[in-house]
Amino acid sequence: MIPYSPERIRIVLVEPENPINVGTVMRAMKNMGFSELYLVHPAEMDMQKTQISAHRTDDLLQNIHTCDTLDEALTGVHESYGFSARTRSETWATLDMESAVGRAISITRNDQNVAYVFGRERTGLTNDELLRCTCRVHIETSSYSSLNLAQAVLLAVYATFRQSKSAGDSPVSRPVVQIDNHLPTSVPATIDAQRRLIERIESMLVDISYFKSQAPNSAMHRIQNILMRADLHDDEIQLLMGICAEVSNYARLIERGIRPPKIQANGKLKT
Ligand code: SAH
Repeated sequence: MIPYSPERIRIVLVEPENPINVGTVMRAMKNMGFSELYLVHPAEMDMQKTQISAHRTDDLLQNIHTCDTLDEALTGVHESYGFSARTRSETWATLDMESAVGRAISITRNDQNVAYVFGRERTGLTNDELLRCTCRVHIETSSYSSLNLAQAVLLAVYATFRQSKSAGDSPVSRPVVQIDNHLPTSVPATIDAQRRLIERIESMLVDISYFKSQAPNSAMHRIQNILMRADLHDDEIQLLMGICAEVSNYARLIERGIRPPKIQANGKLKT
């Protein structure tokens, strides 16, 4: 088994503005053995101020990766955790920090990479940025939940450092934690609902002539495995059934020579 390697966990700061924060982040990273710092579209900074708070972290400073976009900073990453001061919402899969850190450590031991993503000092991460993260991580606080950026990073790297020590060298398989973001009103799907979804997917794939040279059984078994792993709830089954129905309808219209208008994700007509 591969030992825990903090260089497989990168710290990504999205549009940081304050040079003292960036320096303090570097110092926290060095204290806890981290070396990979990514800055996404950082503001122009007085690097002297960064260097003062960074305190003897020249190696990290030389190694900073500056990127134009978050996607660029996430290249080569297998899971990304979006740290957010906002308390739990139903929209996002959320992990508490201990679970996220345990998961991150196990991923590095599978020789894979993780990103801890932190938002802007004033406004945090946008929804679009959170969508690029495997899940959201909230650090528990009193009712005043907004930590200083560098302090949030320190808590994350410290928790990782501590857990990496206590986890020993025993292999941890992924996923160590189920990410549960089901709506409170939804219930786990029954086997027959799952079966209906699999049949619906199969008929949709027939409608779009997917099975050209593919062996249908092998593809369908793999899809079934994915769905079983996904721990689907009834509302999610409905969503996927609805998508399949729309794809089939679309294929039928095309067959009849009708080109339906394209509606974009924002509800606007695509011209
Ligand atoms: N007003 C902003 C707070 C930004 S603090 C907001 O509401 O989102 C800067 C960054 O520090 C946040 O984007 C987040 O990445 C991190 N952070 C601050 N407090 C946190 C908390 N309690 N849990 C997780 N991350 C936190």
